[in-house]
Amino acid sequence: MNKSLLTRCFFVLYLLTITCLATAAELPEISILATGGTIAGSGASATGSAYKAAVNPVDKVISAVPQLEQIARIRGEQICNISSQDMKPEYWLKLAARINQLFRLNLADGVVITHGTDTLEETAWFLNLTIAYDKPVVLTGSMRPGSALSADGAMNLYNAVAVAGAREARNKGVLVVMNDRIYSARGVRKCDTINPAAFDDRENGALGRVNYGKVSFNTRPDKKHTYQSLVKLPLFAGKLPEVPIIYGYAGIDPQMVETICQSNIRGIVYAGVGNGNPSEEVLNVLAKASAVGITVVRATRVPDGPVTLDAEVDDAKYGFIVSDSLTPQKARILLMLALHKDLDRSEIQRLYFEY
Ligand code: GLU
Repeated sequence: MNKSLLTRCFFVLYLLTITCLATAAELPEISILATGGTIAGSGASATGSAYKAAVNPVDKVISAVPQLEQIARIRGEQICNISSQDMKPEYWLKLAARINQLFRLNLADGVVITHGTDTLEETAWFLNLTIAYDKPVVLTGSMRPGSALSADGAMNLYNAVAVAGAREARNKGVLVVMNDRIYSARGVRKCDTINPAAFDDRENGALGRVNYGKVSFNTRPDKKHTYQSLVKLPLFAGKLPEVPIIYGYAGIDPQMVETICQSNIRGIVYAGVGNGNPSEEVLNVLAKASAVGITVVRATRVPDGPVTLDAEVDDAKYGFIVSDSLTPQKARILLMLALHKDLDRSEIQRLYFEY
């Protein structure tokens, strides 16, 4: 090979290397925080329903989707490796602290959390109330383990990373990406026990779609994201207050409600029938609890529609709060945080309507 050809070859190689490095540097830096769930699960048969969630570590979850490298610079961390029915506030606090730290130190442009689908919406809502930055935080999971036919985890993870790296995803609060849809943390809920299209926001619909990594938003969340809010938490230690949920039904024993109210709690969510209604006997128990300082939030067991103030129940008279359109499990999380901050009842009610 003559000398000038060799020089040209080196030059082309140099240009290619520079281009590759520059392209890599332009990719967003995404931290994947793994918590377990079916997306980290595995079963012996591709067609049988039996499997075990939360068996694969974060490296294996990431390496199962090598295409991620084309859209982001990825860093994985294991927060815990559990089925999400075992999720608890201690892990929420760990996640919130780590995400706030990653953003404060400018170590990530976005965060993806892999999570079991059973309580994914609760973690999303907790983080929505506690992350103090406007960079994207996206939760995803899967309904089928990677070992199943037509497993959904790989595409969900790919799409979640694409959303976490998208400029348009900023300042929209915590998001959930499942089955090609993008949802806001407030409204999303698991609506099907086994179908890959398990998630929905029945009140507002999805915020947008993500198709093979192509992100498109149709709308933005109608509520405030709390990085501007009162419930913006610094890194806090300690335990969140215990807040039980009682599920209402015909013939409920008021004594059972009374026993729970006497169990050293600071707040309670009553998932009533209809527009958050308790029976007359339970109303008397809740009124007594409220009078001795327990914060009572009326939510509903009905899937759609808000719980409204002063309809069949005189909330002003009893000092009750209504959950608006938050499900009982999300109403509970807001109450835990509000009690932790020692907010008064009118302030807490405002949060239910505004966040
Ligand atoms: N129950 C398990 C969990 O929530 C599996 C459900 C899932 O991830 O789809 O982690």
